[in-house]
Order: sequence, then C-alpha cells, then structure tokens
Amino acid sequence: MTDFDALDVIVVGGGGAGLAAAVSAAELGRQVVLFESERELGGSTQLSAGMFTAAGTSVQRGLGIEDTAERHYQHYMDLNQWRLGPGLIRAFCAAAGPTLEWLLGLGLDVPATVSPDAHTPGLCRAGVEDVWRGHVPRDQGYGLVQVLDRARRGHGVEAVLNTRVERLLVEEGRVVGVVADGVEVRAGAVVVASGGFAQQPDLLDRYYPEARAAGDSLFVVAAPGSRGDHLAFAEQTGAALTGHGWGLMLPTAYFQRYHHWQAGFPPKSRVYVNGAGRRFMDEDASYAVSGGIILAQDGPVWAVFDEKARLELPTGYADWTPERIAEEVRAGRLLSSGTVAGLAAAMDVPAHALTATVTRWNGTLATTGEDPGFRREDSLAAKGSPQPPDPIAVAPFYAARLLPAELVCTHTGLEIDQRAAVLDAAGTAVPGLYAAGEAGGGVLGMRYVGGGNAIANALTMGRIAGRTAARRN
Ligand SMILES: Cc1cc2nc3c(=O)[nH]c(=O)nc-3n(C[C@H](O)[C@H](O)[C@H](O)COP(=O)(O)OP(=O)(O)OC[C@H]3O[C@@H](n4cnc5c(N)ncnc54)[C@H](O)[C@@H]3O)c2cc1C
Repeated sequence: MTDFDALDVIVVGGGGAGLAAAVSAAELGRQVVLFESERELGGSTQLSAGMFTAAGTSVQRGLGIEDTAERHYQHYMDLNQWRLGPGLIRAFCAAAGPTLEWLLGLGLDVPATVSPDAHTPGLCRAGVEDVWRGHVPRDQGYGLVQVLDRARRGHGVEAVLNTRVERLLVEEGRVVGVVADGVEVRAGAVVVASGGFAQQPDLLDRYYPEARAAGDSLFVVAAPGSRGDHLAFAEQTGAALTGHGWGLMLPTAYFQRYHHWQAGFPPKSRVYVNGAGRRFMDEDASYAVSGGIILAQDGPVWAVFDEKARLELPTGYADWTPERIAEEVRAGRLLSSGTVAGLAAAMDVPAHALTATVTRWNGTLATTGEDPGFRREDSLAAKGSPQPPDPIAVAPFYAARLLPAELVCTHTGLEIDQRAAVLDAAGTAVPGLYAAGEAGGGVLGMRYVGGGNAIANALTMGRIAGRTAARRN
C-alpha cells in the first residue's frame, strides 16, 4: 500500500514519459505515485507505432550497423538548424541508446532484423537519417506500455486512474505536491508527464497555429488526454515554455480522417504536383520532412494518379479505397478528367507543365526504375518496395488536394535542462519540478528527427526525469 504521507515523487500522467519516470524513480528505492486522468494508462504512447530513435544500440550492432550518440547528436542538431540547446540534445542522444537497452532489459522485444515500415518489429529507416535508427518494438506502442506497466506493478507503484491533476502545490517557490480531485497530495518532487495539447483547439491557436491552418481537414490522432495541462502548470509556477509553433503534422489527402492504419495508403503510382503543375518532392519522403516541403510550395498541392491506381487500392480501409475515391469525385470534391490536360484545367495548373510531369514520370521511375530528380527509388527500397511503380496512363485521371492535416503531437512544453529539471524565465530550475515527454519542451524541435523522435523523447527524458526527481538534484 502506498503511504500518501511519505511520498518522494508524484508523476502526473501515465503515458510513456510518466511510466518511464515512475519506474526509474522506484528503481532507486523511492516511494512513487502516478496520477492518470483517463480510465487507462498509455496516452498517445499506447496509440503509437512505438518507433524509437536511438544510436549505438545492441539491435543496430546485431545488424552490423556502426553508430554513435555523437553522430546522432550532430544529425539532430543539423536537422534542427542548431535552434535547440546543445547541452540538452547531447544528453538526450547520449541517453537514448541506454534507455532502449533498459527497455530491452525490462522485456521489450526489438528483433535485430530490417523492418520496412513502422509496423514490422525490427530496425527501420523511417526518418532522414543516414544510419538506420528507428527501433520498432513488437506490439508497437501497446507493447511498450505493457512492458513499462509490468515494471511499475513489479515495483509496487500505484497508478491512480481517472484522476486529473488540476494544479500543482507551490509553497515559497518550491513545488511540493499536486491537487487532484480537490485533494492535496504532497511529495519531494513532481514530474509533469501529461503529454501535449493536440486535443485543445484554443491552445493550438496560441501555441501551434500552423495546425489550425489545415481548417476543416484537420484531424487529431493524439490521445484524448492531450489537453495541455502542463501549460497551466507553467503559468502557476513561472516556468518558461519553449517549442512555440512546432509540432508534427503528417501530410494527408483533404478527405482523410484517420491515421494510415485505418485510413489506408495512397497508391504507389502517384505524383505530387504543385501550383506550377510540377513534381517537387519524393512522394515517399520521410514524414520527418514531407509536411515542411509541402508547406513551402506556393498554392495548393495535389496527388495525381490514374484509374488503374484507384482500382488497385486495397479495400477494407476507411479512406483510401476505390469506392471512397469514386464517392469524393461524385460529390465534386476530388478532381477527375478523361485527359491529363482536362485535369490540369480543373486543378488550375498549366496543362503543358502537368503533361510534361506525367510524361517524365512515365519515362523515368515507371519504366527505368530511376527517378533522377527526386531519387524516390531510394525511399521505395527502404520501404521494401523496390519494384518500379506503374505509369500514370489509364483514364480517368484524378487529383486529390494534399496538405499537412493529421496532427500527431505538439512540441511546446515546459523548458527543461539536461536533467529534465524545469526552468523559469531566468533559466533557473524551479525547485521540485521536472518534466518529460511532450510536456517537457526543448527536445522536440522544428524538424521531427524520425523515425521515432517523440517516443525516444518521452521514454528517455522520462527516465532521466524519474532518476533526477528521485535524487532531487
Ligand atoms: C497514432 C500515433 C502514432 C505515433 N507514432 C509514433 C512513433 O511510432 N514514434 C514516435 O516517436 N512517436 C510517435 N507518436 C508520438 C508519440 O506517441 C508521443 O509524442 C509520445 O507518446 C508522447 O508521450 P507522453 O508520455 O509525453 O504523452 P502521452 O503518452 O500522451 O501520456 C500523457 C498522459 O498524461 C495523461 N494526462 C494528461 N493530463 C493529465 C493530468 N492533468 N493529470 C493526470 N494525467 C494526465 C494523459 O491522459 C496521458 O495518458 C505517435 C503518436 C500517435 C498519436
């Protein structure tokens, strides 16, 4: 039984960061309790693919891949244009590999095999990294949560479900506990691991307006508990925030409403075309960068494909199916024409440019297997799909508006240092307060470092926060 009068550490939130913090503090012999606002543990972590970016792991070594935390750090900082704190990112990259090993020790299964996607257990190249770093566990995010929850129970850490922490208890500038369901609970340290704010439109307006720019197409796949309570905790304690305007939006067709596990996938034989009627990217570019490439185009962006591609879409998904495309065309929302020039007119792009784009596609990747302009053959090979896609040649032709509209996670959090201690506006640690995961800002930056940036952040910084809070330093 937990002695609520003798608590060392309170953890707010029972997703990946919170569970990692709770288990890590308990491993150091501390009395820990965890509050979770929902009826079950897991948060977005449980909904995720569980992909975890880390360097220098035994899984990589098992595949003969040489990698180091230093290399990971360099890549991470470069991709984020050095706009993140080097000390924090160096600590994160150094701890990500050991955190993965810790999870393997707790029973997580990541086989040393090549994985072509975020669903097959193994090592995947889902990001833009030169070395494969995306560790996909068996049973994905669910598997991750199960392993941590088993460790939590093993250490006798109580998880109080269905109990939302409404505010922090602050006395003379020190965080000394929380108030949940109107009850004060005290402890030596508090770890805020309450996730992001993807489900809270007013907070998106304020801290991640780019998400709201998706208008009616915006759909949120983050867990229901992503209400941004950490932002209220910041106001209460004078904690600084960082990560303004950043998050992860995945590009989708305007009609998509589910993550691709349910939505299905657009056809392999497709080109993405901008307002000039030209291809501008590798259609299979990493989710780490594709949203940014699309947003950088002037005007609308389209996925163009043909009737053969439509008919070959597998059934059984919610969005990308032959029937759904036909339905959208009938409703006048998805453009269609018997000729490429007619499609160009409907898209309001130059007909000669779209015709040249399709002709070029048919004469390169679709026939020779090489895509000199965009090197899509590399992405297809990494996905385990090296066969050239079909030409775009069978009428009618289709164009679906594409935009970053699937909101996965948000990056504005309580500013933390390399020990996961929360800092105030002067850069001084707020006594007794630690944060991790989406609630802890500074690790997730302007560019998502796939594959598995956010899970690695949650678990790695959660573990650091739990250990620091346990030692109270
Ligand atoms: C569909 C999907 C797929 C994804 N796939 C990947 C992937 O493969 N790799 C990757 O790196 N990232 C992925 N992500 C992102 C990643 O899952 C999240 O960024 C990460 O899990 C966040 O962990 P967290 O612990 O910070 O938050 P969460 O896991 O969301 O946990 C926060 C918990 O706190 C609870 N909570 C909130 N407020 C309170 C309160 N006041 N009191 C008590 N409890 C509270 C919430 O209910 C929740 O359970 C994915 C996300 C989604 C939605």
